[in-house]
Amino acid sequence: MEKVKVQLGRMKSLGEDAGREEVDPEAEMPCASPVSPSRVTTAAGTDAPGSSSVCKQRGKRGGKHPCGRPSQGAAVPARNLNDPICEQTLHVKGTGRILQGKPESNGNCASRSAQETRCEDGPKVPRRRRPVTVDTAKAKTSLEALKLSIKELRWKEFPLGRRAACDIYWHGVSFHDNENIVSGQVNKLPGMVEMLRKINLSRAVRTMQELFPEEYDFYPRSWILPEEYQQFSTQTRLAKESDAAVSPTFIVKPDGGSQGDGIYLIRDPGDLKLMAGAQPRQAVVQEYIHKPLLIDRLKFDIRLYVLIKSLDPLEIYIAKEGLTRFCTEPYQEPSQKNLSHVFMHLTNYSLNVHSGNFVHSDSQSTGSKRTLSSVLYRLAAKGVDIKRVWSDIIALVIKSVIAVVPELKVYHQADIPPGKPGPTCFQILGFDILLMKNLKPVLLEVNSNPSMRIEHEQEVAPGVFEYVPSPVDEQVKVGVIRDTLRLMDPFNRKATAILQPRAGGADHGEENPVVGESQGVCPDNAGNLPPLCLKQVYPKYTKQFNHLRLVERIAALFIRFLGVKGNMRLGPTAFRTFIRTCKLSNSNFTMASVDILYIDITRRWSCALPDSREAGMGLQAFVEAFFYLAGRRFKSLTLREQVGSLLDLCEASLGPQSGVEDRRSLSCSRALPRPVKTQTLCLSNPQLSSPAAQRRATSQDCRLHQRLKPRALRANVEN
Ligand code: ADP
Repeated sequence: MEKVKVQLGRMKSLGEDAGREEVDPEAEMPCASPVSPSRVTTAAGTDAPGSSSVCKQRGKRGGKHPCGRPSQGAAVPARNLNDPICEQTLHVKGTGRILQGKPESNGNCASRSAQETRCEDGPKVPRRRRPVTVDTAKAKTSLEALKLSIKELRWKEFPLGRRAACDIYWHGVSFHDNENIVSGQVNKLPGMVEMLRKINLSRAVRTMQELFPEEYDFYPRSWILPEEYQQFSTQTRLAKESDAAVSPTFIVKPDGGSQGDGIYLIRDPGDLKLMAGAQPRQAVVQEYIHKPLLIDRLKFDIRLYVLIKSLDPLEIYIAKEGLTRFCTEPYQEPSQKNLSHVFMHLTNYSLNVHSGNFVHSDSQSTGSKRTLSSVLYRLAAKGVDIKRVWSDIIALVIKSVIAVVPELKVYHQADIPPGKPGPTCFQILGFDILLMKNLKPVLLEVNSNPSMRIEHEQEVAPGVFEYVPSPVDEQVKVGVIRDTLRLMDPFNRKATAILQPRAGGADHGEENPVVGESQGVCPDNAGNLPPLCLKQVYPKYTKQFNHLRLVERIAALFIRFLGVKGNMRLGPTAFRTFIRTCKLSNSNFTMASVDILYIDITRRWSCALPDSREAGMGLQAFVEAFFYLAGRRFKSLTLREQVGSLLDLCEASLGPQSGVEDRRSLSCSRALPRPVKTQTLCLSNPQLSSPAAQRRATSQDCRLHQRLKPRALRANVEN
């Protein structure tokens, strides 16, 4: 009963004015030029190939927005991802930098300085550097916006790929879209697709909620199905029994779903659709936010673009301009009568575009899709403290990223182990955020493949749909892609240097907290291009958020004991080694108890993650074991203090290499025995013997599966 009260408290908490985050009340706002922000002028204008209308015939409401659908990807960086590629390029001759068997052959840079040459009898004169090369062959639905961006930057596009290495590879789905890239930069982090699936994101946030309940109150209370059905059902029943006035609504979201597919609202656990044929449905059931902020009586949500420029060290940028997507039926609080009104409750563009009420508009401040700045401007005009809102949004983004980084680091070391030359990775994410009536932002989900389409679907005659250019999308999305490229420009060393966090990073909080300023312009391009629309928020706000990075420290320990390159699971021997090395066993907690703990937790997690092909203890299970050990050791403290104290103890036993931003220790990992595979490993194909290869195979299987079942896809998601 006590537990139920806590749950109820949490259910309520999102409806109340929770304590606000202290980020930066002065943060540079998205509405610098609210109603008519300078439109991105592109050299390419509207004549970009493929931007012309594409006609297609189909039923009015039956179809889906034909985005390219994503699939499974992989994970994250353990090496410094920010080394200017120019340096790599200059080393090409020495290192034989090779991509897919072919040496770099792109002209000037490999054989001499990219930036200058010496005239016969004169001083050094600046030489035009070769253009940055971008492989766009796998860009899918981002292609049009990417082409415009490349044109603006006067870089060189390779639409069919290239035998020699490119500086940047633009993938439409996951890190694994191209295999065998060993240099340059890829716009996807290994593991991001997996980590941002609804169940995994919920789990990652929940771990943070256990440690920092007040700081992670921006995510609605969620239960994972089918495994938590009993808890969900008992808790809601008891909640109703204890207070008849409580009648919460819940939203059910299929794990792999996107664009509103398969989503429905319920008020009673008995209405859950638990099975899909003979299979239990994997889904998240979540507290429904029933008092959203409305504009023109319509519910809307915010799509915010966030760049993870680097995972290690962590660098996060937020786009100052985003999109807002409006429902097309006036909002009413959920009741049994209106639960199925998707145009009232779901803000997905892909659904609402098929409503007769959808308003296409070339203006940024009207219609069913508007710029974020126009909405904030409108709120400001009504007296809303939009600086506060923006600051809360920044805090939400940083905290969400911090929640998923630990697991991303595990993926990264598996796919790009230390010692492998590269590539380095970055990624644009799409955050979907709802503003509550009390202006508190709530995280709905994070898309690993946000749609970068700059056309929209329009019904030009009954049943006839066309893709027509969408100025609002173009303004926002081309800006995001172009400025991401500018930040990743391998030759722009000045910009890179300016953008690099200072060592330690902790003093950033003392600067003027306005986002932007010193890091706002890439010097090389400053003359021709607008100021960057992407603003660094981390490490800028290290001081305010660094204390949240506890699980990353656990992940650093985990990675250190993983043992085998490419592995993501800890075997029983490695777990024992961890316990021994960190001196965590004693007469009260014998090695026999350690083995039981390992078996117990690993078995439970292998049931919770039925798809996983690798046996052993994954990071989430290790974190659970770590919490347990911390609780045993430091009984009288809070969980956060227990975990912090145990981390200090372990790190002291291991020496200096286990800090958050540290690399995995090669010597340590190699010294460890290969984890014993005790469970469901059903692989006879020797080519799939390495865990990384197995994951890639899974990823490919999944893509095939997704081609066959397009509605289950999670691709370039406009929502
Ligand atoms: P999808 O990936 O299928 O778009 P989302 O999690 O984004 O799934 O949910 C779809 C839509 O449902 C959101 O855009 C939002 O309008 C609505 N929604 C999602 N979660 C909630 C919630 N907890 N409370 C209220 N509305 C929600």
